[in-house]
Amino acid sequence: MATLHNRVSRKVLKERAENDPTPRNTVSFYCYFPISDPASMRDHWYVHLNGLGVYGRIYIAEEGINAQISCPVSQFENLKSFIYAIPSMNGLRLNKAVDENRNSFYVLDIKVRQKIVADGIIDNDFSMNNRGRYVNALEFNEMVKEPDTLVIDMRNHYEYEVGRFNTAIEIPSDTFREQLPMASSMFEEEKERKIIMYCTGGIRCEKASAWMLHKGYKNVFHLEGGIINYINQVRELGLENNFIGKNFVFDERLGERITDDIISNCHICGTPCDVHVNCKNSSCHLLFIQCDACHSAMGGCCSNACMDVVQLDPEQQKEMRKGLDKGRNIFNKSKQRMTLLSKDQNVD
Ligand SMILES: [Zn+2]
Ligand SMILES: [Zn+2]
Repeated sequence: MATLHNRVSRKVLKERAENDPTPRNTVSFYCYFPISDPASMRDHWYVHLNGLGVYGRIYIAEEGINAQISCPVSQFENLKSFIYAIPSMNGLRLNKAVDENRNSFYVLDIKVRQKIVADGIIDNDFSMNNRGRYVNALEFNEMVKEPDTLVIDMRNHYEYEVGRFNTAIEIPSDTFREQLPMASSMFEEEKERKIIMYCTGGIRCEKASAWMLHKGYKNVFHLEGGIINYINQVRELGLENNFIGKNFVFDERLGERITDDIISNCHICGTPCDVHVNCKNSSCHLLFIQCDACHSAMGGCCSNACMDVVQLDPEQQKEMRKGLDKGRNIFNKSKQRMTLLSKDQNVD
């Protein structure tokens, strides 16, 4: 089976990457601009980036490109020249991850998608041409002091749960497509107020800012480069930091610690904890928060049922996985429910 083959080779690739001493940067970037032929761009990028030894995940759609990659430090300037050769991407900000970890990716995946951020929008009048105004970290810090300003977190619940700006309002859902209409109706009476939207790297809030303007909001801003760029600016310029806890990221690390504050709890026992894990039962693979004590007591599983499954022999477990949705399970403690995110769900 193709799946099995893929899994084995990924394991080998991962080991190879982990044993490779090459210094790497984890870099993310996105750009909304019209791409007429995403498929041929995909092929061109694959050949070039593979040649540079880049790993990571890139989505290309007619509305733009979204990339999270790991690039050998020695090839970073070459990568930059390659990207900047595209006129719409010339001078684009490339976000470097806060804490360097060369194990963030170990294979190069470039996919053509319908959208770089699945938005569920079926309004033909909506356009990405009219977006909110960018604010940098300094402007953000000034604006959040004004009582009139609403700070809106456009990330999913499990991201908000472990780390956020201290005055941020959550749009309570685990899918961006649900959040867009929620956000525009939640503040219906406050269309004149200053609204700053943010997300991890800026890609979601950039689209959300365009959506809010489309819905008649007047003063819409968004944090340029998202939390990642904010933290970089705070550290480089010695600014006041308004972000607490951990910045959740969807790579092997599942989060970068920003401050020592632990603002969430173990989903099993309730003790303060902000460590996300995936359930060891691979037919479950639930993403949830689990403290060290519960992790060892439960063998990394999320429930007794999953503990039973991992006791079975591998063939039996494989049989149980057949026909299961291969999406990503996420436990949403606040709503006591699980959300099955499809594989197509984009995160930045
Ligand atoms: Zn616990
Ligand atoms: Zn489980």
